[in-house]
Amino acid sequence: SHILVCGGTGCTSSGSQQILNALQTEIEKAGLKEEVAVVQTGCHGLCALGPIMLIYPEGTFYSMVNVDDIPEIVTEHLLKGRIVKRLLYNETVTEDGIKSLNETDFYKKQHRIALRNCGVINPENIDEYIGTRGYEALGKVLTEMTPDDVIQVLLDSGLRGRGGGGFPTGLKWKLAKGNDADQKYVCCNADEGDPGAFMDRSVLEGDPHVVLEAMAIAGYAIGATQGYIYVRAEYPIAVARLEIAIKQAREYGLLGNNIFGTDFSFDVGLRLGAGAFVCGEETALMTSIEGNRGEPRPRPPFPAQKGLFQKPTILNNVETYANIPQIILNGSEWFASMGTEKSKGTKVFALGGKIKNTGLVEIPMGTTLREVVEQIGGGIPNGKKFKAAQTGGPSGGCIPVEHFDIPIDYDNLISIGSMMGSGGLIVMDEDNCMVDIAKFFLEFTVDESCGKCTPCRIGTKRMLEILEKITKGNGTLEDLDKLEELCYYIKDNSLCGLGQTAPNPVLSTLRYFRDEYVAHVVDKK
Ligand code: SF4
Repeated sequence: SHILVCGGTGCTSSGSQQILNALQTEIEKAGLKEEVAVVQTGCHGLCALGPIMLIYPEGTFYSMVNVDDIPEIVTEHLLKGRIVKRLLYNETVTEDGIKSLNETDFYKKQHRIALRNCGVINPENIDEYIGTRGYEALGKVLTEMTPDDVIQVLLDSGLRGRGGGGFPTGLKWKLAKGNDADQKYVCCNADEGDPGAFMDRSVLEGDPHVVLEAMAIAGYAIGATQGYIYVRAEYPIAVARLEIAIKQAREYGLLGNNIFGTDFSFDVGLRLGAGAFVCGEETALMTSIEGNRGEPRPRPPFPAQKGLFQKPTILNNVETYANIPQIILNGSEWFASMGTEKSKGTKVFALGGKIKNTGLVEIPMGTTLREVVEQIGGGIPNGKKFKAAQTGGPSGGCIPVEHFDIPIDYDNLISIGSMMGSGGLIVMDEDNCMVDIAKFFLEFTVDESCGKCTPCRIGTKRMLEILEKITKGNGTLEDLDKLEELCYYIKDNSLCGLGQTAPNPVLSTLRYFRDEYVAHVVDKK
């Protein structure tokens, strides 16, 4: 047998480490140490059911496992071959027997590219990554492709930045390659800061080598020899696994000098972010890596011209990188065959809020919001009605029920006043007050504004004051007009993306739920 125990942050916080320890002790006691391998993996996605484990060869999925359940799992399942029925995930139990996890509603519409190894391999063992064709794409680009070939594959694939902006990745690399310099840099944005978002954390915890491999490919494509991963210090498991991965990749000659026996050299360093949301903005991130206070700088010059240490730099987010080795191995046509006309491939979403299956999902672009919420997410708990979904975190907006059937892609979400963002998807039911939701996100941006420019520093504060006045029942209809006017002023005049998008949660709720704002002020008229 072969037992996978989830060691992602979600399951770790619900006790998976203790379960792993108890499992090893009981297996040893039962004399099964030689026959049963216990592997700690990254996140499987079904975080709401944690701690979880999968027992092979049958693929039995046990959820909400407790330390007290371990002796029974060992004696019944491992020794006697009898399934412990009470621990089965009820979606896998049918009248005809037990179905595989991949046939459940949560998994069957998913397509895992960025998450393909999460929950499958031991992220602390480079051999397991190599065993799933890891570092083969790097070998292929170094021995069979020119830098221009690599960039062309990415351009043809249609891959766009998964951090939220949706800029074509191949074009970003092409611009950086076109600028001559004695040194260039490849950066990875792992400063995932949106409330409710944990896609990047899960990739780093479950498959850290994929990011290193993709960064090395990027280095070859643009002519850089040094990479930096800027990761939140609040992600200790991700940081620890990245450190292990970098060390192992160096030992295997997959980072460092003369990779794959070629004259290409590339290394990666880690830089820890101290938790400022603005450091997820690319110019602030680079300023922070340089050792300065993480404040955005005006663009142009763009990073492809003058980025980190004033040298040409590319910066992509974790999920973007996680797609790249697969695109190199399977080809641009394979990737471009998934998704919508202008948004190719898949997108990872972190489902949260009023939804049954909170967790992590990867769906083809073009999947509807209804499919995500009702089928994959299992619907709204307690028989309540869906009211809205918030995408894009503090930069995004709320999508109301009338757009429930919209295929999710970059352009569709923007057309209805939200945005893809990095992938947080928070579901609200009929009990949520949309003015409170807007206020929550605005409080976040007021706290996180770096203060460098006036429209954002002062403007968001004034917006919050108006919202507080409204929610306390002291607002007027005139305040709503003022609020809207301020939104456009801040959007148009702020220096960086944080300020330019901060009004979005207010604007989208004003657009779709104006009656709720009016209900708060109506008594004053
Ligand atoms: Fe700082 Fe906000 Fe201005 Fe961005 S928009 S530079 S976060 S004050």
